[in-house]
Amino acid sequence: MNAPDAPAAFFPFDNSFARLPDRFFAKLPPTPVPEPRLIRLNDALAGELGLDADRLRTPDGVAVLAGNAVPGGADPLAMAYAGHQFGNWVPQLGDGRAILLGEVVAGDGERRDIQLKGSGRTPFSRMGDGRAWVGPVLREYIVSEAMAALGVPTTRALAAVSTGETVVREAALPGAVLTRVARSHIRVGTFQYFAARRDEEALTLLTDHVIGRLYPDCAAEENPVRCFLDKVVARQADLVARWMAIGFIHGVMNTDNMSVAGETIDYGPCAFMDTYHPATVFSSIDAGGRYAYQNQPYIAHWNLTCLAQALVPLLDADQEKAIAEGQAAVDAFPDAYGTAFLAALRGKLGLREAQDDDAALAQDLLTTMAENQADFTLTFRGLCSIAEAGQASEADTADPVRTLFKDPTAFDAWLARWHARLASEAGDADARAAAMRQVNPAFIPRNHRVEEVIAAAVIDSDFGPFERLMTVLSAPYDDQPNRSAYADPPKPEEVVQATFCGT
Ligand code: AMP
Ligand code: MG
Repeated sequence: MNAPDAPAAFFPFDNSFARLPDRFFAKLPPTPVPEPRLIRLNDALAGELGLDADRLRTPDGVAVLAGNAVPGGADPLAMAYAGHQFGNWVPQLGDGRAILLGEVVAGDGERRDIQLKGSGRTPFSRMGDGRAWVGPVLREYIVSEAMAALGVPTTRALAAVSTGETVVREAALPGAVLTRVARSHIRVGTFQYFAARRDEEALTLLTDHVIGRLYPDCAAEENPVRCFLDKVVARQADLVARWMAIGFIHGVMNTDNMSVAGETIDYGPCAFMDTYHPATVFSSIDAGGRYAYQNQPYIAHWNLTCLAQALVPLLDADQEKAIAEGQAAVDAFPDAYGTAFLAALRGKLGLREAQDDDAALAQDLLTTMAENQADFTLTFRGLCSIAEAGQASEADTADPVRTLFKDPTAFDAWLARWHARLASEAGDADARAAAMRQVNPAFIPRNHRVEEVIAAAVIDSDFGPFERLMTVLSAPYDDQPNRSAYADPPKPEEVVQATFCGT
C-alpha cells in the first residue's frame, strides 16, 4: 500500500506473467534514452484503462513511457518465444526490442499488458539494436488505433515518445518508443518455444495461465486444452475475416506474430489495399508473396496447425488421440472462416437474409473490381449511397462508383443483379444504407497518408499530419465532408509500392 500522501501509481500493476518460472522470460529494465519527448498520448485509452493521463504527460510520466524510469509495481521483462518466420523454424526469438512492464486490470475487468516497444537490447536481441525508429512506431500507432476504431480486435497504442537518439537503418533515423497495450503478448510461438524444448511442465503452466487469463470458461470443460484450442481457432477465423472485409494486409503473419488472444498484433510492413487485387503484397521482405492478401486465411490455418502441434502433449495422454483432437480443432477453421467472411460480405452488400447465390454475387463483384482496378474501400462505400437512393435514381448515384472501374460498363451488369437481389428481400432503403455504412468504412489508413505522416515527422519533426490523420481515423464510418481528401486513393505518383519492415 502507498502511504496516503504518496503520489498515485502510474499503473496499478498486477503481474501474473512475471510470476511464472524464470525460463519464461529474461527480467531486465528498459534501456534509458537521451532526450524523451512525448509525441502523442492516447487519452481515450488511458481513460479506459483507469490511468491518469495528465500524470503520464508530466516529465516523470514521459520518463516512464520512454523507459527511463521503471514505474512502481512494474516487473520489467522480455518474453521468450520461438516461431516460424516465413515458414522456417527459428527455435529462439523472444522480445528483442520490447519490455513488458506489467499488467493492469482495466475498468472492464479485463487484464491488459503494458509493453514498451523499441526499449533497448535484451538477451533475445541477437544482432538487433533493440530500438525502433519513428516510422514503424507511427505506423503501428496509426494502424492499430484505426483497427480499433474500425471494430477489429487489436493491440492498442497508449503512447509514442521520441528518444532523441539516432537509429541506423537504411539511413540514420530518429528513434522512438511505442507503449503497446494487449490482452496478452503470448503468441503461437510462445507455445512452440516450450514444445520444441519438450518442456511439458512449462507448456502446462503456460496453457493454464492462458486459460485462466483469456479463456476462463474452458477451465470447467472436460478437456480444457481442446476447448482453448477451439476458441483460438474460432477467434482467429473471425479476426482474419474482419481483416479481409476491410482490405487489411498484415504482411508478416509468422507464428510469433499471431496472438493466442485473437488480437491483431505486431504491425510491421502492414497496409490497407487501395486498388483491389487479391494477390496484393506490400512487405518488401515478402518476395514470394506468402503473406499476400488472399493467402491470409490459409496462413492463419497453417499457424493454428503449429499451435495444435505444440499442444499435442497436453491434448490427451494417448498421443494418437491427442493428434486427432488437435486435427479436429484445426479442421474447423476453413468453415469458421468461410462463414465469417460470407457474413461480412453480406453485411457489406446490405443483404439481411442469406440466399444461396450470395457468395457468387459477392465474388463476382470482387472479380470485376480486380479486373478493373477499382478501389476497394470507395467501391463498397459507394454502394451504400446507391442502396440509399434505390434503383429509381440509379444513374446519378451509381456514377461515382462506375467511374472507379476502368470499364464502367463492367460494373453495370453486376449492379443490375445486386438491385434484383435487394428487391428480393424486405427492408427500408435508408435503414439498409445506414447498416451498410457501419461496416463499409469511408476512411482507412491509406498507405500514402501513413507515408506522408512519417516523412513529415522525420524530415521536419512535424507531427501535425499525424494528429490530423488520427482525428480522421477515429471515426472511420462517418462521412466527414470537410476531410474528404483523406478518403481519396493515392494519385499515381503517390502509390506506395512496398512497405519496409523497418524494425
Ligand atoms: P518481428 O517479425 O518484427 O515481429 O520480429 C522478429 C524478431 O526479431 C523478434 O524476436 C524481435 O524481437 C526481433 N527484432 C526485430 N527488430 C529488432 C531490433 N531492432 N532489435 C532486436 N531485436 C529485434
Ligand atoms: Mg514480432
